[in-house]
Amino acid sequence: MGVLAESLARIKPSPTIAVTDLARKLKAEGRDIIGLGAGEPDFDTPDFVKEAAIEAIRRGDTKYTAVDGTPALKNAIVRKFARENGLDYKASEISVANGGKQVLYNAFVATLNPGDEVVIPAPYWVSYPDMVLLAGGKPVFVTCPEQTGFKLRAEDLDEAITPRTKWVLLNSPSNPTGTAYSADELKVICDVLRRHPHVWVMTDDIYEHLVYGEFEFNTVVQVAPELRDRTLTINGVSKAYAMTGWRIGYAGGPEALIKGMAKVQSQSTSNPSSISQAAAAAALEGPQQFLSAWRLAFQERRDLVVERLNEARGLRCHKPDGAFYVYPSCAGTIGKRMPDGSVIGSSEDFARYLLEDAGVAVVHGSAFGLDPFFRISYATSKEVLQEACTRIIQACDRLS
Ligand code: PLP
Repeated sequence: MGVLAESLARIKPSPTIAVTDLARKLKAEGRDIIGLGAGEPDFDTPDFVKEAAIEAIRRGDTKYTAVDGTPALKNAIVRKFARENGLDYKASEISVANGGKQVLYNAFVATLNPGDEVVIPAPYWVSYPDMVLLAGGKPVFVTCPEQTGFKLRAEDLDEAITPRTKWVLLNSPSNPTGTAYSADELKVICDVLRRHPHVWVMTDDIYEHLVYGEFEFNTVVQVAPELRDRTLTINGVSKAYAMTGWRIGYAGGPEALIKGMAKVQSQSTSNPSSISQAAAAAALEGPQQFLSAWRLAFQERRDLVVERLNEARGLRCHKPDGAFYVYPSCAGTIGKRMPDGSVIGSSEDFARYLLEDAGVAVVHGSAFGLDPFFRISYATSKEVLQEACTRIIQACDRLS
């Protein structure tokens, strides 16, 4: 009998982390690699947030805190939800964990019985299905095709829901496509959810602040307040405030669920770092003006990447409203020959070709459940993105 549990055989290591690690390794070996795999902003955490953390250390905030968040941070989150989303959560309806990732994991472990189904629109963030599997649930995928801008169609959602459905997971703006739902589009989805009162709704709003042009972010409970009693609204400071390493995510939801999630956390990690919690409270309560400058920088990068990728032979790139990803189709490269004579048979082959031949690391679409596509993270400088796009265009030209 091996040492590893059977449940581990059901899951795979995160493919996005694997690509980032491979790019790092090749770089360390002296290869000229541009990494477009990582899902984190390239900006630095704002100074006022760092100062709040230093102050917390000096103050002696260096001990265990309440398992699922300090009162100060929970109150800051209550005010954030009220100010930015018009939601009226109480502190007892807030949960804080080590990143949005742990919030999701706690929620699945706290709620899934063996065989319970979780509806996941595809393409999806790589961790959703594996977390569901680890918690004993069954992921049910609903394809969101390129033709609808990778948006979930109401009739497809309706069809995917069964008596075993526990959760429907929504993620807008989305990782990996950047697709974001307008208030009206979200209402159509909520109309379906309203008709299935046994279904709970998990909305992962972690890219809330990264929306471009005239697009306005909306969340489920805002457009459908009647779903409040069965919705978990998930968010975090990682992406909005360039705080991926601080590991603070949070959620608002019905008290019984929040208590269940705290129970899971109390027997696993206990509280997230006391210092990070102080920093996150400062981020949520401090000046927010710098966010518009970041948003503008991301928007310019998105425009550049979309325009240039559409110059590449065999690629087609939509223009999404949010996050810092694009999800171009590489269907036009499938079946073509690489300079070494071998044929591109999948997005994985194409991604490997870009890495080995052009020195550009991207993540293949099969990791996200819709192929043949690949994901580019444009959270890097315009100069680097120009160079990466030039390399991709040239690599596509070398295919025959
Ligand atoms: N949700 C989505 C869609 C993400 O892309 C990520 C990170 O990549 C997370 C949640 C979790 O972020 P964190 O755990 O850093 O809060």
